[in-house]
Amino acid sequence: MIDLRSDTVTKPSPKMLEAMTSAQVGDDVFGEDPTVNELEAIAAAMFGMEAGVFCPSGTMTNQIAIKVHTQPGDEVICDKLAHIYQYEGGGIAFNSGCSVKLLDGDRGRITADQVLEGINANQDYKAATSLVAIENTTNRGGGSCYDFNDIVAIREVCNQHNLGFHLDGARLFNALVKKGETTKQYGEVFDSISICLSKGLGTPVGSLLLGTEKFIRKARRVRKVFGGGMRQAGFLAAAGIYALENNIERLNVDHQHARQIAEALSEKDFIDSVLPVETNIVIAELKGRLNPLSFVELMRENDIFVMNISAQQIRMVVHLDVSADMVNKIVTTIKGL
Ligand SMILES: *Cc1c(COP(=O)(O)O)cnc(C)c1O
Repeated sequence: MIDLRSDTVTKPSPKMLEAMTSAQVGDDVFGEDPTVNELEAIAAAMFGMEAGVFCPSGTMTNQIAIKVHTQPGDEVICDKLAHIYQYEGGGIAFNSGCSVKLLDGDRGRITADQVLEGINANQDYKAATSLVAIENTTNRGGGSCYDFNDIVAIREVCNQHNLGFHLDGARLFNALVKKGETTKQYGEVFDSISICLSKGLGTPVGSLLLGTEKFIRKARRVRKVFGGGMRQAGFLAAAGIYALENNIERLNVDHQHARQIAEALSEKDFIDSVLPVETNIVIAELKGRLNPLSFVELMRENDIFVMNISAQQIRMVVHLDVSADMVNKIVTTIKGL
C-alpha cells in the first residue's frame, strides 16, 4: 500500500528505532529525562531561541502557545484556512476563551496589511486583539511557503500594536529547505514557534514549542494542565533528535516527488486545476467524469490511498516512506485513469 493521505503516516526507520531503544530516560515531569532535555536544548539552539518544551502533538504546542499569549476574551488573528482554527477542535475557544478574526489570505498566507486591518479598535466593546498566528508551510493552502519579507512585515505590525506573533511551523522545515532559509531567521522574528517532528521528519510522535525562557516556563505549566506531561518520553525524544540530524535535507526529495505527481495529474481531463506545488503537498480540483470520491476509490483499487478534502478537491502528501519506485507507480496509475 502507498499511503498519501498525510505525511503523519510514516513509521520509524530501523536506525531511528535503534536510537529510540538505546535512549537514556527519566521522569520528564520531574525534569529528569536527559534525552528530552537534550532534544529541547538542541531545537532551541537551532532556532537561536532560549528554550523549548516537548509535547505529544502539534495541536498541543499550538494550543499551549495561544493560551500563554492570550487572556479569555481576547481575539486571535489568523488565516481562514489555519490549522489552529480548522483542525484543532475549536480549541481556541475551548482552551483559551478567545474569539478569532479570520483573514482571507492567498492559499493560507496573510499579509501585514490584512493583519493591520484585522486589529480591533481599542474600544471597550471590542475584543482585544492580542495574537497573530501564521502557518508555514500552509497545510490547507497546499504546502505554500511565505516570502520571508512578508513575515518580517507582519512582525513590524505586531511590534507597533503590541501583539504576540506565533508560527505554526508543523512543516517549517519543508519551507526552509525549499526557500534556502535558516532556522535562526525564524527564531529572530517570532515570539513562539511550533514544529512537528511527526510529519515530514518521520518520528512516530512529538512536537516542540520554542520561545523565551519565561514563555516556556509558562508553557510547561499549561502543558501539565492540558495533560501533556509525559514520563519516560526520552524514547520519543530520541526519535526527534535523530530526525533533526538526519531527515531535514532529504525533504527536497519529497518536493521533487510531489512535482512529478502534480505533473501527471495536470495532464488528465478530469483535473480542473492543481494548486502550485511548492513543497510536499499536492491539492487538485476535479471536474467532469471523476469526482473526488470516485478518484479516491479508483486509486484505492490500485492500493494507493489519497484523501478527498472537499466536494471538489483531493489531496496527496508525500513523505519519507514514499520511494522513487512508488512515485513511478503513482504516476503510471494516474496516467491510466
Ligand atoms: C499536522 C499539523 C499540526 C499538528 O497536528 P497534530 O496532528 O496535532 O500533531 C498543526 N499545524 C499544521 C499546519 C499541521 O499540518
